Amino acid sequence: MKTIGLLGGMSWESTVTYYQVINETIKEKLGGLHSAKILLYSVDFDEIERCQSSGDWEKSAAILRDAAQHLEAAGADFIVICTNTMHKVAEEIKAGLSVPLLHIAEATAQKLTEAGITRVGLLGTSYTMTESFYKDVIREAGIDVLTPEEEAIRAVNNIIFDELCVGIIREESKQVLLRIVQQLQNNGAQGVILGCTELGLIIHSEDLELPVFDTALIHAREAALAALR
Ligand code: GLU
Repeated sequence: MKTIGLLGGMSWESTVTYYQVINETIKEKLGGLHSAKILLYSVDFDEIERCQSSGDWEKSAAILRDAAQHLEAAGADFIVICTNTMHKVAEEIKAGLSVPLLHIAEATAQKLTEAGITRVGLLGTSYTMTESFYKDVIREAGIDVLTPEEEAIRAVNNIIFDELCVGIIREESKQVLLRIVQQLQNNGAQGVILGCTELGLIIHSEDLELPVFDTALIHAREAALAALR
């Protein structure tokens, strides 16, 4: 079994999901007392978020590249960045590594393709929804990406940073998110990407008619399967 290097803490609320899903997948595949070989480098999210909001992506890339190099030096066979947003600097992180990086949007695009989705709604941070670094990976798989309107983008972003990343789960916010997904469905979305690793803490597939692609679950499961390959 390979050793998985997790770059986590962005936020730690969702890194918990990764730890759990990776171990559950290994248990499902190998049974008995088997569990995953994981190295976790959990950063201080306050530091990363300050880089995001001030636009200092270079600094955040340097912090994460350094952390990823520590994971590699400690024996990680591949690296998993446990956030969609910080894949904005995935190339810069990758450049400092000789082990591979398991890209969250590539893993998600693969699942969308398998499900025959050609037009998908995307929820995530405002960076993920408005910039091209994430959507381009999905589009390269031949899938159209729909994002909410400006006001809804702000609402989703606020729910992520002010609530989910600090462990607050509110029914009212869930209803806001479900209404936004409904709008995306009305616009032709055949499925929805939970393109923020905390969104699965508040929205579950049972809440929606549309197929749900929870990036934290997809990425974590894929990491476990890659460890067994
Ligand atoms: N975990 C989130 C994501 O998947 C948001 C936190 C961050 O900005 O990294 O995008």
